[in-house]
Amino acid sequence: MTESKKGKISDATELIRRGATLLKEACENCGGLQVKYKNRILCINCDDLSHISSVEVANINEVNTNLGELALIKIQKLYDALSKEEDLDKQTRIANLILLYMDILEKTKKTK
Ligand SMILES: [Zn+2]
Repeated sequence: MTESKKGKISDATELIRRGATLLKEACENCGGLQVKYKNRILCINCDDLSHISSVEVANINEVNTNLGELALIKIQKLYDALSKEEDLDKQTRIANLILLYMDILEKTKKTK
């Protein structure tokens, strides 16, 4: 077995681990194994599975990190606004927003 073939099989295994299902039907082009992942049918020979799985992981982590950072920046800004705010209605709105962002921050920490 060549290195690239080993790689392809481990990529397919990785996709299956993420919820892809192995199809009974073989690929029309090469007769290779096919997997179904997020409503897409992929051949482990014809399609670059390593690309698909790695891109998705990077995106989820990136969005998660960015969202966490954004929530933190917003909380800091809202904290400043709240400390200067005299109007009780506005304070309530700012405080609620802070709680919302803290919730987001908490959730992004958990998914890491
Ligand atoms: Zn194929």
